[in-house]
Amino acid sequence: MRTPIIAGNWKMNTSIDEAVALVKQMKDALDKISGAEKVLCPPFVSLVSVRELIGGTSIKLGAQNMYFQDKGAYTGEVSPLMLAPLCQYVILGHSERRQYFGETDEIVNKKILSALNHGLSPIVCVGENLKQNEAGKTTEIVTGQIRRGFADVPSIDNVVVAYEPIWAIGTGKPATGAGANQVIGLIRSTMAELYGEEAASQLRIQYGGSVTAANIAEFISQPHIDGGLVGGASLKADEFVAIVAKAAEIKSSLRKPV
Ligand code: PEP
Repeated sequence: MRTPIIAGNWKMNTSIDEAVALVKQMKDALDKISGAEKVLCPPFVSLVSVRELIGGTSIKLGAQNMYFQDKGAYTGEVSPLMLAPLCQYVILGHSERRQYFGETDEIVNKKILSALNHGLSPIVCVGENLKQNEAGKTTEIVTGQIRRGFADVPSIDNVVVAYEPIWAIGTGKPATGAGANQVIGLIRSTMAELYGEEAASQLRIQYGGSVTAANIAEFISQPHIDGGLVGGASLKADEFVAIVAKAAEIKSSLRKPV
């Protein structure tokens, strides 16, 4: 059974004080929710403060990016050695990193290998843009990102994948549950080709793109979808708590024998 995982990607939002205030608003309610893994991904500068605040709770911490080298003359970069003592997860290959910072599948591949080597669980983002979607290229784009991103990666045991169609991110126009489930099913079968049926059946794959408390049910009730990577809505404490609570409730009700 795959435990659903909901991660809040705060992107480049919140000062340290604002991050602390946001965590204080959601911490107790989030901590009480069982049946879903909860991950907060604040900006780098707030990781230490958020870590202190969530200590002793069931809430986990993630970074939004990292460099693949351990250390050295890479001004401005953050190493897996710096993150590993702080957090469990790291988002890699987000479409905003690919679009604005030139991250290729080859770079994402090096980052996945490096994160796993240092005991960090990567949340690896893939997804097509609107033009590719409209040209019927979703399968080709997404499976290509998976194959190149995971080249020489020995195991997906500690990996999470997030399918995030770029046209749905921050637009208020989410994919449909059925549409996202179909692409995520394809990601799972590509992973089965690479790592075998057993490993692929245990891989958690999130949907991301304009997820809200009002639409999470549509996604989480799909058989292949194991959670959400949530951007904008994760900056509102009540909304994020509601998303996590609904995801946990719906997934556990689907598991109960009738
Ligand atoms: C994201 O940042 O990964 C994301 C899906 O953003 P939003 O929920 O705002 O669309």
